Amino acid sequence: MNIFREEHHLFRTALRDFLQREVVPYIDDWESEGQIPRSIWSKFGNMGFLGTTIAPKYGGSGLDFPYQVILTEETSKINSGGFSAAVVGHDALAMVYLNKFGSTRLKEQFLPASCMGQSFGCLAVTEPHAGSDVASIRTSAKKTAQGYVINGSKTFITNGVLSDYLIVAAKTDLDQQSAGISLFLLNRTIPGIQASALNKLGWKASDTAELSFQDVFIPHEHLIGEENMGFYYIMQNFALERLILAIGAIAASQYALEYSLQYMSQRKAFGRSINKFQVLRHRIAQLASQIELQKTYNYTICKAFDDGHNVVQQCAMAKLMSTELSDKVMTECLQFFGGYGYMEDYKIARMFRDSRLGTIGGGTSEIMRELIAKMVIDKVKY
Ligand SMILES: Cc1cc2nc3c(=O)[nH]c(=O)nc-3n(C[C@H](O)[C@H](O)[C@H](O)COP(=O)(O)OP(=O)(O)OC[C@H]3O[C@@H](n4cnc5c(N)ncnc54)[C@H](O)[C@@H]3O)c2cc1C
Repeated sequence: MNIFREEHHLFRTALRDFLQREVVPYIDDWESEGQIPRSIWSKFGNMGFLGTTIAPKYGGSGLDFPYQVILTEETSKINSGGFSAAVVGHDALAMVYLNKFGSTRLKEQFLPASCMGQSFGCLAVTEPHAGSDVASIRTSAKKTAQGYVINGSKTFITNGVLSDYLIVAAKTDLDQQSAGISLFLLNRTIPGIQASALNKLGWKASDTAELSFQDVFIPHEHLIGEENMGFYYIMQNFALERLILAIGAIAASQYALEYSLQYMSQRKAFGRSINKFQVLRHRIAQLASQIELQKTYNYTICKAFDDGHNVVQQCAMAKLMSTELSDKVMTECLQFFGGYGYMEDYKIARMFRDSRLGTIGGGTSEIMRELIAKMVIDKVKY
C-alpha cells in the first residue's frame, strides 16, 4: 500500500534533512532539560512543516493527510518520543481542534501564528480523577453575562507548561456527564492558570504538565464550537489521534529494528556476528513481518481517513495493534544488545522507555478493546 506521491517524498527528504541538522545534534540536551527550545517551533513553521492540512487562508498549506503522516513518521525516527509528542500535540491535537471546530474569528486569530510556529498549543482533557472516563471530568466553566469562569485541574498534559494557548475541556452543565462538556481556548497569559512539570519515565523532551485553573475568565468567543458538544468533538478527533499514535509507533519500531540490525552485524560472539544465529534471525524475521503488515494496514486506514470515511473502529484497531507491537519490538530489540541494551549510551534504552506510553496515551489498550468489542459484538456505531 503506497499513499505517497513524488511531492510527498520531496517533503519527507526536506524534513529528514532538517531534523538531522536542527534537532538530532541537540536532542540529548533537550531530553535532559525536559523540554524543547522555543526557537525550534518557528524554524519548523518557517519550513512549512506545521499546519500542512490547514487551509492557506488560515496560514496552512492546504495539503492532504499523507503530509501529516510523514511529519509523524520522521519525528518518530530520531529517538525522542518526547520531541515527536510535542510536535504532534500541537500539530495534530491543539491545531486540529481549533481548525475543525473553532469559529472563523478564533481561527483567524490563532491559526496563522500556530502554522508559523510563533505560538503553539496543547489539548487538556485528562484530569486527576478522570482519564479513560472522559465524561466524568470535573473542571467547570460557569457562564456569566461577560464570559465563562473556569475552575478545576488537569494532568498529564503534553506541552502543558510551555504552550502559548490551551484547548481545555470543561463542564458547562455539571448535572450532565458527556452531554455537559464544552471546549474552550485559554490564552496562557490570562490570570488564574498555574502549571507545573511532571517527572516521567520517558518522553523526556516533552513538557508534561499538571494544571490548575482558579477563576480563569474567558470571553464567550473563546468557546470552541457549540456549548455541550465537547465530548462529541473529542470522540470525533480520537480517530485521528489514535491513527497518528499508530503511525508513530510503527515508525519507531522500524527505526529500532534498523538500529538493532546495524549493531547485530558488528557484535561478535562465539567467533561470528550475532546476526548469524538462527534464533535471532528468526526473531528479526518475525518482527519485520509484523511491522510490515501493520504498516500496510495503517496506510490503508490513512487513505480511508483522508477520503472522509468513518474509521473510528479501524483507528482503534490500528492504535491497539501498533502500540502493542511497538512494545514487543522494543523489548526484543533491547535483548539483541545484551547488557549494552540496558545502558543509556545505547539508543535502544530510550526507545524502550518511550514506547511504553503508546498503550496508555490517547486511550489505553483496555479502552481500545472495550471500544472495538462494542463495535464488533454489539454493533454500536460511533
Ligand atoms: C506522557 C503522557 C502524555 C499525555 N498527554 C496528554 C495530553 O496531551 N492531553 C490529555 O488530555 N491527556 C494526556 N495524557 C493522558 C492519557 O490520555 C491518560 O493517561 C489515559 O487516557 C489513561 O487515563 P488515566 O491515566 O487516568 O488511567 P485510568 O483511566 O485511571 O486507567 C487506569 C487503568 O484502568 C484501566 N481501565 C480504565 N477504565 C477501564 C475499563 N472501562 N475497562 C477496562 N479497563 C479500564 C486502564 O486501561 C488502565 O489500565 C497523557 C498521559 C501521559 C502519561
